[in-house]
Amino acid sequence: MPLVLDGVEIAGEIKAEVAVAVQALKERGVVPGLAVILVGSVAASEIYVRSKVKTCGELGIYSEMLTPPKTVTTDELLTMVAALNGRDDIDGILIQLPLPGHVDTKRLLEAVAPEKDVDGFHPVNVGRLQSGQPGLQPCTPAGVMEMLRRRDIPVAGKNAVVIGRSDIVGKPMAMLLLNASATVTICHSKTANLAGVTQQADILVAAIGRPGFVTEDMVKQGAVVIDVGINRVVSEDKVREFFGDDPKRQATFEKRGSVVVGDVHPEAFRASSAYTPVPGGVGALTIAMLMANTVKAAELRRG
Ligand code: NDP
Repeated sequence: MPLVLDGVEIAGEIKAEVAVAVQALKERGVVPGLAVILVGSVAASEIYVRSKVKTCGELGIYSEMLTPPKTVTTDELLTMVAALNGRDDIDGILIQLPLPGHVDTKRLLEAVAPEKDVDGFHPVNVGRLQSGQPGLQPCTPAGVMEMLRRRDIPVAGKNAVVIGRSDIVGKPMAMLLLNASATVTICHSKTANLAGVTQQADILVAAIGRPGFVTEDMVKQGAVVIDVGINRVVSEDKVREFFGDDPKRQATFEKRGSVVVGDVHPEAFRASSAYTPVPGGVGALTIAMLMANTVKAAELRRG
């Protein structure tokens, strides 16, 4: 039976350590602070942000939510970010994506002071990651590395294949694996003979955004399979295709009208030696890593 890499459990470990670090900072008179900018009202974003703010509260991190309307201009947002950059009590600034189409997202992300860039998206932090220097790293791929480290999964010398080359997940994931001395291949929608490449992977990371895309024949026997994908499936036929008659998934579908599926087909995990479930795998770690980054930012700047 493959080992299930339980993201909820690992997130609990990380949060417990963050709470201790927050306490240590407080004893020196420093309360770490996170500001979240949420533009307009997008239901999914609101849920994410509320959960980030709640976790801050649980761990003793000060948080502030700024909620400009969806008509806000890039210039108004830049003014907001500049004010947060200038505040000593704010250690982390997070701009919840996606932003409305008229907002210049790139310009805004580049306006965040690199030392407060807890998402790790600023070019300075991207460059630091690339050159192996300490800095703030994107939460989702950093969470994957934490998971591998905490469950003693060796990375050095392994063949790692990352499917997906986004700035948020795929590219930083590949860079972190490379920095940990894996031999890394990045795949994308133009990759020829994708299955031939993935079959060589000792560590396979799927960050594609397509439900059940990675099938069992694409997975090397005994590989570690990390499923970053979070996809909502709304058709009962599809739920059956992925989960058969699994009563738990059927019940979720009946209750919510949808079921979350990763980028890896549930049957493909059978070939693995260890895998992350969806939900309860990588997704569970992202907020914990955001909290860890906020404390790290506070320690680096004020500690
Ligand atoms: P993007 O859409 O930005 O990137 C998807 C990548 O997948 C692209 O590089 C694309 O290639 C590649 N791709 C698409 N189709 C194929 C294909 N047929 N064959 C090979 N590669 C393909 O997505 P993100 O990176 O932002 O997110 C990926 C997934 O991870 C999503 O399901 C998202 O919901 C989830 N996610 C989960 C998080 C978490 O906390 N667990 C956080 C962030 C994202 P190309 O570049 O050629 O178009």
